[in-house]
Amino acid sequence: MVIGLGRFGKSLALELMRDGHTEVLGIDSNEDVVQGVSGRLTHAVVADATKEDALRQLSVQESDRAVVGVGSDVEASILSASVLVEMGIPNIWAKAISHSHARILTQIGVHHVIRPEHDMGVRVAHLVRGRMMDYIEFDDGFAMVKTPPPHEVVGLSLRESNIRQKHGVTIVAIKQRGKGFTYATAETVVEAGDTLIASGLIEDTERFSELA
Ligand code: ADP
Repeated sequence: MVIGLGRFGKSLALELMRDGHTEVLGIDSNEDVVQGVSGRLTHAVVADATKEDALRQLSVQESDRAVVGVGSDVEASILSASVLVEMGIPNIWAKAISHSHARILTQIGVHHVIRPEHDMGVRVAHLVRGRMMDYIEFDDGFAMVKTPPPHEVVGLSLRESNIRQKHGVTIVAIKQRGKGFTYATAETVVEAGDTLIASGLIEDTERFSELA
């Protein structure tokens, strides 16, 4: 179930439909918005998600996953999330537009709070600063980056270049120009034009990508 089919909720709902197995119920209070996705989701319904009765009529209590994509209307976001928590939906995600909004959603029992603008801003900052092509940050200061190889490792196998000891990062996968990614082994020889996926502490992955 996806509540609020704005830019965030709509992209999410359509992506969920892409595997061809997931059933997606989209709910929005705006009729035009619902019209806009008609035929592209399993069900799309006009309803006010802050009203428990309206949601019960749609049998949403049977959903095992719900996403509240309503953001800019903080009151509607909190009210609908609280209805879902009250119903005991086992997995609830909700989008927050500020730190305090995120805190309240967590306090009322939402399992996963996401801040798309904030998180994307942080991510893009790393891309802008370094030479990496992609960046994912995990908890505890751990990250995974997509980066060109540093000049010093070109022509050497991963064993010879000793990347893990020297730079503190582990090469997880490697991609030759025009080919797909394959898992890296100690024997993998890095060539100019390759793309690496490196994992490690944030500072180490950033420093490593700056050597490229
Ligand atoms: P985005 O920034 O992703 O476009 P918005 O917060 O602007 O997100 O859009 C949220 C969507 O949620 C809108 O389409 C709006 O009609 C819908 N919405 C707002 N309040 C409710 C509500 N009480 N019940 C259902 N949908 C709602």
